[in-house]
Amino acid sequence: ALQDGLSSAFKTLRGQGKLSESNMRDGLKLVERSLLEADVSFAVVRDFMKRVNDEAVGEAVLKSLNPSQQVVGVVYQALVDFMGPVDHSLHLKGKGELTTIMMCGLQGSGKTTTTGKLGRQLKAAGRMPLMVACDLQRPGAIDQLHILGEQLEVPVFSDRTQKDPVAVTKAAQAHAKKIGADVLLLDTAGRLHVDEALMEELKRVDRQAMPDQVLLVIDSMTGQDAVNSAQAFNDALELDGVILTKLDGDARGGAALSVKHVTGVPIKYIGVGEHLDALEEFHPDRMAGRILGQGDILTLVEKAQREFDQDEMARQEERLRKGEFTLDDFRKQMSQISRLGPLQKIMGMIPGMGGLMKHLDNVDAEQGMRRMLGIVDSMTAEEKRNPSKVIDQNRRRRIAAGSGVQPHEVNELVKQFDAMSQVMTAMAGKGARDRMKMVRD
Ligand code: GDP
Ligand code: MG
Repeated sequence: ALQDGLSSAFKTLRGQGKLSESNMRDGLKLVERSLLEADVSFAVVRDFMKRVNDEAVGEAVLKSLNPSQQVVGVVYQALVDFMGPVDHSLHLKGKGELTTIMMCGLQGSGKTTTTGKLGRQLKAAGRMPLMVACDLQRPGAIDQLHILGEQLEVPVFSDRTQKDPVAVTKAAQAHAKKIGADVLLLDTAGRLHVDEALMEELKRVDRQAMPDQVLLVIDSMTGQDAVNSAQAFNDALELDGVILTKLDGDARGGAALSVKHVTGVPIKYIGVGEHLDALEEFHPDRMAGRILGQGDILTLVEKAQREFDQDEMARQEERLRKGEFTLDDFRKQMSQISRLGPLQKIMGMIPGMGGLMKHLDNVDAEQGMRRMLGIVDSMTAEEKRNPSKVIDQNRRRRIAAGSGVQPHEVNELVKQFDAMSQVMTAMAGKGARDRMKMVRD
């Protein structure tokens, strides 16, 4: 829905030659509605829009000739600023000194999983983590952590005879010293809802542990509720960072904006899967792209790079940069993408794709992809080079017959391709070069 809202906002603006205060305001109104639909909290949207309004309706912007690009540019940049600055560091002390990291968050937010992910990452970085089972509430919580520890070969401290997490923390500190661990990861208890007892328990653990980092784990799928729980934890504890989990699902990312606004602390990592390697550094620019519904192109490029021939990727990037994106490139990307993973997940990362899949008669993504490839394959080289100019009614019928679809589907594909290459060209022109370079490095 966010994508629809923004597409129509940009469509409205595209028809207008020049940016004026009134058409900018119209565009921003649609952006505002879209953010609300992406589960960004009301208060946060209001603050954000005020900031964007001040910038967008300023003098510099009014000189622009391309309203839709300006709105995207201003909103995009404001989103990036709003969610930044980045600080991925866990501020570890020197080796031989004990750094304590305390995880907190609601039950089910992903604390234990993320504790495992951090343990894995720290171990890979040459540290000696010790994971501590401070969740004495949830049945099976201790076992869950021990299983992770065995998988990762990272030590776990627990005491099944204890009822008080403070005592466990204290014993864990002594144990860390004994075995020479240098990072203590405290996996604390959560509740289904914030309550006094939970906060009191956490404050007591906090006083005993004197953590160097208190990390709040938030489930990005919880949308508006994320704001309330973030507020409560922020009031009770001195947070140092946030980890947003479950961003591999269809969460729009609105929670990132809200949580950052409420806590003011950096979002350090994002969880992108149940596997223990599914932890990534948080990048405001990518999240801004996701919230805007333009698709997380950079993440996609990064992922593709890991799995595909580097040279071919370099060629495609070059073409993207020069704005020479053709249906052949499109086809190549489509077929590569289908090898990347679950299609539904991948599709959301490509601009315009959500809409295209919808137009293809609601068939499932897998089938939709095959149809699209079929359509492109039924085109001549000339048609592929310049689809919107060359393909007339007759050609459309021929292509449709050749690929077993309806002529209007050929039309939709060409239209979506046009929209997509516009976005790509715009992104390539605007700082994309630098970002691409960063991704490659
Ligand atoms: P806790 O109660 O806060 O300790 O939450 P858990 O770590 O037990 O996680 C709750 C559920 O969320 C489990 O099924 C995890 O596998 C799942 N989970 C955690 N992080 C992620 C993530 O980034 N992506 C997905 N898809 N699932 C996650
Ligand atoms: Mg847990």
